[in-house]
Amino acid sequence: MKILLTTFTLLFTFLLSAQSTYLHCGKLIDTKKGEIQKEMTIIVTDDKILDVKSGYINPKSAEDQVIDLKSKTVMPGLIDMHVHLEGEMNPKRYIQPFVLNDADIAYNAQVYAKSTLMAGFTTVRDLGGTGVNVSLRNAINQGKVIGPRIFTSEKSLATTGGHADPTNGRRKELMGNPGPKDGVINSIEEARKAVRQRYKNGADLIKITATGGVLSVAKNGQNPQFTVEEIKAITETAKDYGMHVAAHAHGDEGMQRAILGGVKTIEHGTMMSEKTMDLMKKHDVYYVPTITAGKSVEENAKIKGYFPDIIVPKALAIGPKIQSTFGKAYNKGVGIAFGTDAGVFNHGENGKEFGYMVEAGMPALEAIQSATITNAKLLNMENEIGQITTGFIADIVATDDDPTENIKTMENIYFVMKDGKVIKN
Ligand SMILES: [Zn+2]
Repeated sequence: MKILLTTFTLLFTFLLSAQSTYLHCGKLIDTKKGEIQKEMTIIVTDDKILDVKSGYINPKSAEDQVIDLKSKTVMPGLIDMHVHLEGEMNPKRYIQPFVLNDADIAYNAQVYAKSTLMAGFTTVRDLGGTGVNVSLRNAINQGKVIGPRIFTSEKSLATTGGHADPTNGRRKELMGNPGPKDGVINSIEEARKAVRQRYKNGADLIKITATGGVLSVAKNGQNPQFTVEEIKAITETAKDYGMHVAAHAHGDEGMQRAILGGVKTIEHGTMMSEKTMDLMKKHDVYYVPTITAGKSVEENAKIKGYFPDIIVPKALAIGPKIQSTFGKAYNKGVGIAFGTDAGVFNHGENGKEFGYMVEAGMPALEAIQSATITNAKLLNMENEIGQITTGFIADIVATDDDPTENIKTMENIYFVMKDGKVIKN
């Protein structure tokens, strides 16, 4: 009886005193100020950051845990604004829609979600899949699956034959006639219906394919594919449901229409002119570069038979251009939102983008700010994620080296905490 009582008392005290974790950080990146602080302690209780203090503070209670990151550089969990968690590029990709069931896609996506989180990306925006990404988001939020916090667009919107028309390149009887329900629109009315359908299906935001793209089985990789009126109908309807709109765009004309139509981000932006850069600044539209995807499609296009023939010239023309466009846009003062298009290359290699950004002229600390504080703001999460400060969600990662001295260290994340739970150490 006495033992039982003691056990009960112990359990009770344990439940009362929330256990805290003390992270001793050799270096800590302050993403708000854009500076590195030395010898700091982060105190985490439950899923939140309780306090951030100078020096190495030791806990008073024996229940509390200390994590030694004295030789590491610690920063907020990273945010990738452009991933596709449902799939990963491989030479058999174009046969997969005919052989994979939703359950197969879901099991695959679970693996990709885990590698994304292990790479330090605690939050992502999923810019289009079949809709399995909605269930994945829910399963992660419910703690059933390990992965990043997901903001999903469910299925991307396209026009007939456009970049995200799911039946491109098929035999005629397999093309059918996809409509707003399938994410294909051809009028203002259909545009509105497609947005409302995404909301009904559980999307957090809307993605449109404003121009042709590299990986669709179609000839043109950059022509405009929506009218301004259709884009306006999409952004206005999305706004009614608290959603923002991301626009895939390689060609300049389609980009301008998307900006004038009211989108929040331009993805890839390959052929962006100076005029469009000015337009982006004027309309407070952010550029999500995805340099890693550009480099990756260029590489794969050189492997014979990897892509269908129609894709190869597009990959070779568009892939290598993105990095220099990014450099120009950055120098011109266009807002940059870190995003990679992971899925076009292997999930978990998202950190490569930092190296490419730095190579093109953006200082390391600014690239990290782009992947934290900027992206948090675009997701309306600026008071919860993107900074290591009191009251914020405890999404914390650490690298072996100081990224301002070695940006490649971002490809090899040493420590990951999400929602106050240690995922990798
Ligand atoms: Zn994409």
